[in-house]
Amino acid sequence: MTESSGSPHPLPPVALPGHAIVGILGGGQLGRMLALAGYPLGLRFRFLEPTADSPGGQMAEQIVAPYDDPDALRRFSDGLAVATYEFENVSVAAASQISARVPLYPPPAALAASQERIVEKTFFHMLEIPVPAFSAVESAEELNAAVERLGLPSVLKTRRFGYDGKGQRVLRNQKDVEAAWTEMGGEPLILERFVPFYRELSLIAARSRNGETVFYPLVENHHREGILRLSLAPAPRLTPALQGQAEEFARRILEELEYVGVLAIEFFQQGDRRRANEMAPRVHNSGHWTIEGAETSQFENHLRAILGMPLGSPKAFGFSAMVNLIGELPPLHRILQIPGAHLHLYGKQPRAARKIGHVTIRAISPEERHERLAQLQAIIGKTVE
Ligand code: AMP
Repeated sequence: MTESSGSPHPLPPVALPGHAIVGILGGGQLGRMLALAGYPLGLRFRFLEPTADSPGGQMAEQIVAPYDDPDALRRFSDGLAVATYEFENVSVAAASQISARVPLYPPPAALAASQERIVEKTFFHMLEIPVPAFSAVESAEELNAAVERLGLPSVLKTRRFGYDGKGQRVLRNQKDVEAAWTEMGGEPLILERFVPFYRELSLIAARSRNGETVFYPLVENHHREGILRLSLAPAPRLTPALQGQAEEFARRILEELEYVGVLAIEFFQQGDRRRANEMAPRVHNSGHWTIEGAETSQFENHLRAILGMPLGSPKAFGFSAMVNLIGELPPLHRILQIPGAHLHLYGKQPRAARKIGHVTIRAISPEERHERLAQLQAIIGKTVE
């Protein structure tokens, strides 16, 4: 984790906190936690989100309308100091309509680079950031040729709108290849060589309007069925070399995009090799631990970055574990009895595979973290590590 100062010509902040309204496209839990981080700074918030009573809308003004409604976009941008988004599938048209009226961060180039997997992987490759071998697939012939080239197992993914493991299948044999084509064929796809990784890591970085940049310590992530279940922060067995290399990759991306805001990059670690899987131009689930586990949370640093305020230290306090609450609520009073456990609920109705909250455990040693995590797992009734 490092902190560094950036450009010699800092831009002035866009508005004094206390007078600024921050507009957020998307009213999910990420938007809600941005608002919660911004209130102590005197900020106000406005959401644009099609579903009424969203997690964000329970916190602040919400315009209930589709993201591509020009009139709603006009009402949304009126009087904003700055606009941002909490999901990366914002359309380029909506982004340009907003950025014609108010500053919009992260920059639209970051949206373009992260919305489509082939564009994203080509972008990483151009910056000499290693990625899994991949091929574009648009027909059954191209799928067969890609399987021939990359071998099995491989992972077939939709190029757009994939999240939480949706829109992807691991192909292990010829039968899987045919079944996947029947199910997924018809839209642009990407086939990636399966990486037998030893673990998954993510890096959260923040870059402000004046180029100041901070990096949080790398986090180890555990997924099941494509959904993040557990993050350990800092990642166990984190070495300066591992951290330094991830920061170097992140720095290339931040500078190339003249990025402003929080950026998350996911990596596969396989022996000494790191490959980038994807990036998200927004605050990220694997950064939720920073609310209690770091000197400044990813949410606060995102706001500071887009408002041109000095960034806060990304230093970790002790050892944290973040566990997502997915699908159903466990007995909350028992969770609150665990020492060092911090419960976050998003105001969402429980539904299968839906993230409805998370628990962050903070501890003074990896052993204490392990012990408290075991208590949490016993309550949730699932092994998450
Ligand atoms: P993604 O939507 O690309 O983040 O993929 C979701 C999860 O699927 C990842 O976090 C990995 O656990 C797994 N996965 C994705 N791509 C690959 C790959 N090329 N090799 C192995 N596992 C993968």
